[in-house]
Amino acid sequence: MRQSEGMTIAPDPLGTLDRRPRADLSGPPSPLEPLPRLSAAAGGRLWAKRDDLLPIAMGGNKVRQLEFYFGAALAEGADTVLITGAVQSNYCRLTAAIAAKLGLGCHIQAEERVPDADATYRGSGNMLLQRLLGATVHSYPEGEDEAGADAALNAIAEGLRAEGRRPYVIPLGPGHAPLGALGYVRAARELAAQIDAAGIAAPHVAVASGSGATHAGLLTGLRALGRAIPVTGVCVRRPAVAQAPRLAARCAEIAALLEIDNPVAEGDIRLTDRFLAPGYGRLNLPTERAIALAARQEGMLTDPVYTAKTLAGAINLAGTSSPETTVIFLHTGGTPGLFAYAPEIARIAETAP
Ligand SMILES: *Cc1c(COP(=O)(O)O)cnc(C)c1O
Repeated sequence: MRQSEGMTIAPDPLGTLDRRPRADLSGPPSPLEPLPRLSAAAGGRLWAKRDDLLPIAMGGNKVRQLEFYFGAALAEGADTVLITGAVQSNYCRLTAAIAAKLGLGCHIQAEERVPDADATYRGSGNMLLQRLLGATVHSYPEGEDEAGADAALNAIAEGLRAEGRRPYVIPLGPGHAPLGALGYVRAARELAAQIDAAGIAAPHVAVASGSGATHAGLLTGLRALGRAIPVTGVCVRRPAVAQAPRLAARCAEIAALLEIDNPVAEGDIRLTDRFLAPGYGRLNLPTERAIALAARQEGMLTDPVYTAKTLAGAINLAGTSSPETTVIFLHTGGTPGLFAYAPEIARIAETAP
């Protein structure tokens, strides 16, 4: 605790957040904006927090998460970063973009998570962009084996080290400190200030819950700031029963990283898996409707894997909440994913009202 002229300065509610190394890539606050035409269609009040507009290589939530990983990598003197993720991972594309911007090498391990993926799925969207951005891409066959994927990535790092490189591995499986989630602790502070400035009286945030870094970071940040704003995670990867304990663990780990008491109570963890079926990266009717509605009512692009499922959840929440509630859809990006689903998007475009 700092002292000045005998006065005690209160500890920062976000603990060590602002003292951690961070590569500043997200720039000024992303827009928080109303969605009036979509609100009318949903029968409730909807706004969007536009993290899809964060300023590098098509943006998205991973920009905020990567600020802390790249901050750590630079602090260690790394010259190459490594990451593992699904084929069509936005995380991998943005790692390649940021590595390019900072002058670092980049190795990506692409995991096969979506069954029956075709040539478009493997060769367009993020997969195409990460090659353009200069990354070396490796393939990993088993998409649901997180420990195995981490081990394979570490083997690539060992090889680089033997060649005299200084690799930094971005770990994504459980059992590692969720450094990236700190990006959404910062975002919680940014969003809280925007909610106040806009005079939104009864906000309720809808956010994709995949690894849970975004959801847990935002929730922990809001609660640490003393904000009771409800946050509903829309499951995009696994059912709510499996996601809930993961999320609770993430929140505790984030609080430990911040060196604060865990401010998240069990009842704070809200999840819905109504929009997950038939599974990760697979479309369903409400998701297809959300893609068409966002595009045709607001000129806003959403992707089939994450943001359209989350928007389907947000639309449902807005339509079923009290009239004074404002549902804030956290738009986490994913735009290049649209091109990997070109045949499905073409069908939606032809059949949407
Ligand atoms: C990764 C990702 C998510 C999920 O975020 P988590 O922090 O992994 O839960 C949501 N939307 C988009 C576009 C993503 O790329």
